[in-house]
Amino acid sequence: MIYDLAIIGGGPAGYTAAEAAGKKGLKTIVFEKRTFGGVCLNEGCIPTKTLLYSAKVYKTAKDASKYGISCDNVEYDLSKIIARKNKVVRKLVAGIRGKLTDAEVETIAGNAEIKSSDNNQVEISCNEETYIAKKLLICAGSETVIPNIPGIAETAIWTSSEALENKEVPESLIIVGGGVIGIEFASFFNVFGTKVTVIEMMDEILPGMDKELSALLRADLTKRGIDFHLETKVTALQQEGEKQKVTFEKDGMTFETETAKILLSVGRKPVMTGLGLENIQLETSRNGLKVNEYMQTSDSNIYACGDITGFSLLAHTAVREAEVAVEHLSGNKEKMSYKAIPGVVYTNPEIAGVGKTEEMLRSEGIQFTVNRLPMAYAGRFVAENEQVNGVCKILKGEDGTILGVHILGNPASEIITIAGIAIEKKMKADELKAIVFPHPTVGEIIKETL
Ligand SMILES: Cc1cc2nc3c(=O)[nH]c(=O)nc-3n(C[C@H](O)[C@H](O)[C@H](O)COP(=O)(O)OP(=O)(O)OC[C@H]3O[C@@H](n4cnc5c(N)ncnc54)[C@H](O)[C@@H]3O)c2cc1C
Repeated sequence: MIYDLAIIGGGPAGYTAAEAAGKKGLKTIVFEKRTFGGVCLNEGCIPTKTLLYSAKVYKTAKDASKYGISCDNVEYDLSKIIARKNKVVRKLVAGIRGKLTDAEVETIAGNAEIKSSDNNQVEISCNEETYIAKKLLICAGSETVIPNIPGIAETAIWTSSEALENKEVPESLIIVGGGVIGIEFASFFNVFGTKVTVIEMMDEILPGMDKELSALLRADLTKRGIDFHLETKVTALQQEGEKQKVTFEKDGMTFETETAKILLSVGRKPVMTGLGLENIQLETSRNGLKVNEYMQTSDSNIYACGDITGFSLLAHTAVREAEVAVEHLSGNKEKMSYKAIPGVVYTNPEIAGVGKTEEMLRSEGIQFTVNRLPMAYAGRFVAENEQVNGVCKILKGEDGTILGVHILGNPASEIITIAGIAIEKKMKADELKAIVFPHPTVGEIIKETL
């Protein structure tokens, strides 16, 4: 049998493409060596957000008196929180499997390796069987970067995967890396009483997000007891019995500090091994597979989507890329657009942004104006956030086109979509202002700020 489409990897890119292709009537097969749902469902987006929601419930219960509610003896049980997380993951993974079955996609459990690509046919082997397909889509995802820090191999550090399975709250935690993953875990453990310290090489946490809002979030987290060391480099790690030690350099001086646990979160990189990439010649960029705007690699029969391209490393980008790839291999030319990819940090409060940041516009030499309003301009925000501040910031071009929107305050993750639509559709401020927003909603802050 010759398949129309073979897919390596059953994460957001792979399962989205498989379902879309199956529904289009393409004979589709997908190989997954671990669990369907990929990093996102099993050890990324969904598990972290499930844990963060438990932290939010706990904090809300503890702060209930601010809202006129008495809530005594509020307690948590991390093993129950983890058990609930596992239940949520199982449910969603089962949902993905169901969708693939409904779309008549064949699924194979095992490690797939590309053997060859020629004469408009790609040969793949898995579990000692050979499979032939007209087109191949590589969605092998990404893995945690483990930097070469002296002592790292001898120290029982956590990556995000171990942190998600741990059933005891550590007394202290040093997080190496102040990116999205590091800051979400900082927020989580801080709520449960861990003494959290974040060490970041750059001059601000959350690189890529709006710097002003990142600094405001950092100030908020500092008030809650999290320590930050910016422009600081970790130079050594050490395990000493039950304790762990971190050596770091800041302002030309060397410091050493002890902690119960170290969480390493310095980034992720495309999975480029174990796929048989050495058997075909594909161009690479950003340590991943190079693709054009239709997600085609340098071999026109082979597409690549998601983290393997080393570009966005976000599940929602992976999903859209998969849709674009399936459209293209079925004959429709729809280009991938990266203009309005939202970035969200699911701390409490959340921070979200879409489009350009001030830093980007300045470095690109684009003229812009900034409108900024406290979140308290939205009545609903005031009703639901006692003694909490936030800010909405909108960047506009000279002709009023909305170029970037950045929000600190709950539920930034939900309302940022409004801004994403406006930016993707190149809307001007006046056009978005003419849309009727439901009242009272926190999203009205965007209309107010325009
Ligand atoms: C802690 C954490 C939190 C995150 N939170 C968010 C978030 O809130 N929002 C967001 O958008 N993104 C988040 N991400 C990133 C998100 O998980 C990834 O961007 C997304 O999973 C990428 O999807 P993908 O399909 O490209 O790859 P993956 O999800 O990595 O899936 C790739 C799949 O391919 C399989 N595979 C690899 N090689 C082979 C092979 N040779 N044969 C068969 N199968 C193979 C793997 O087993 C894996 O299941 C988070 C990541 C982490 C680690």
